[in-house]
Amino acid sequence: MNFSRRTMLALATGLATTLAFSPVMAQDKGTIGISMPTKSSARWISDGDSMVKQFTEAGYGTDLQYAEDDIPNQLAQIENMITKGVKVLVIAAIDGTTLSNALDNAAASGIKVIAYDRLIRDSGNVDYYATFDNFKVGVQQAESLVKGLKERFPDAKPWNVELFGGSPDDNNAFFFYNGAMSVLQPMIDSGEIAIPSGQMGMDVVGTLRWDGAVAQARMDNLLSANYGDKTLHGALSPYDGLSIGILSSVKGVGYGSGDLKMPIVTGQDAEIPSVKSMIAGEQYSTIFKDTRALAGVTVKMVDALLTGSEPEINDTSTYDNGVKVVPSYLLEPLPVDVSNYEELLVGSGYYTADQLK
Ligand code: BGC
Repeated sequence: MNFSRRTMLALATGLATTLAFSPVMAQDKGTIGISMPTKSSARWISDGDSMVKQFTEAGYGTDLQYAEDDIPNQLAQIENMITKGVKVLVIAAIDGTTLSNALDNAAASGIKVIAYDRLIRDSGNVDYYATFDNFKVGVQQAESLVKGLKERFPDAKPWNVELFGGSPDDNNAFFFYNGAMSVLQPMIDSGEIAIPSGQMGMDVVGTLRWDGAVAQARMDNLLSANYGDKTLHGALSPYDGLSIGILSSVKGVGYGSGDLKMPIVTGQDAEIPSVKSMIAGEQYSTIFKDTRALAGVTVKMVDALLTGSEPEINDTSTYDNGVKVVPSYLLEPLPVDVSNYEELLVGSGYYTADQLK
C-alpha cells in the first residue's frame, strides 16, 4: 500500500486522538470531561459510574477523573481535559472557589461547563448547575434529628445536641447548615434544645474536606470538655462519613451500651456503612440522593447544550455564585431511616439486599 505523507499524518493524528482518549470510548458525539472530587466517598463513585453509563448510552465518550481531594490535582485534570478538547466539562469541585482560571480557559475554547452537585463559585463561566434541593437536605436532616430525639428521649429536657457542618469550601455545606438551623434555631431559642458546647455557626462547626477523622476528633473533644455531668442526645451530621466518625467517638465513651442510649445521629448520601449502621441501630438516619437521577439530569443537560436546545431547569433564583445566578435543576432528596430503607434503597434497585448484609 502506498500512503501519501498527508494520509500518514492524518492517520497518526487520528491514532494520537484515539490514544489520548484511550481509557474510554470516544464515540461519534464527542467526549465529555467528568471531574469528580474523590473516591474516598462511595457516592462520588456512583455518580461517576452512572454518568459514564448514561453518557455512553446517549452516544458520548467520557473522560472521568477523580482528584482525591487535592485541589491542584483537580485543576490539572481539568486543564488536561480542556487541552484534549472535550465537548463539555461536568465538574463536582473540591473547593468551589478555585476554578476560575481553568474555566476562563474552557470558555476561551468554547467548552460549556456544568457544575455537578456542588456550585462552582466566583466564575461567570458556569453554564448550568445540576443538584439536589440542598436547603431541603438540611431541613430533612434536622427534622429527622428531632423525630429521633422525641422517639428515643421523650422525657429529656432540654435535649443536648452538638452540631457538625460540612466543608466550608463547599457551597452546599452552608445550604445544609442553614436548612437545618431553620428547624433547630427556634427550638434552641425556646430552650427545647441545648448546645452544651455553645459551638454554633459554620465558622466553628465546619469540617474541612468532609473528613470523618476530623469530626471524630472534634466529637472526642466536645464530649470530654462538656459532657462530664451531661448526656449527649443528638448530633446533627451533614454527611455519612462524618456520622461514622461521630458514632465511633460516642461509642468510645460508652454510648450505646448499658443505660447510655446511642444519641440520634443524622447523615447524608445513604452510603453502605451508614445504612448498615442504621440497620444495627446506631446511625439514626441519612438522606438519599439518587445519583442515578442526578447523572440522568446532567446527561440531558449536556445533550441539550450540544444539540442546540435549551437544557431543562427548575430554579433560576437560588444559586448565586458571586458573579451570576446559575440556572439550576434541583432534584428531591429523600430522608431515610430504618423504617423505609428497604423500600427506598433496595426497592429502587440502588442497592441489593446482599450489599446491606
Ligand atoms: C454533597 C453531599 C456529600 C458531601 C461530601 C456535598 O457537596 O452534596 O452529598 O455528602 O459533599 O462528599
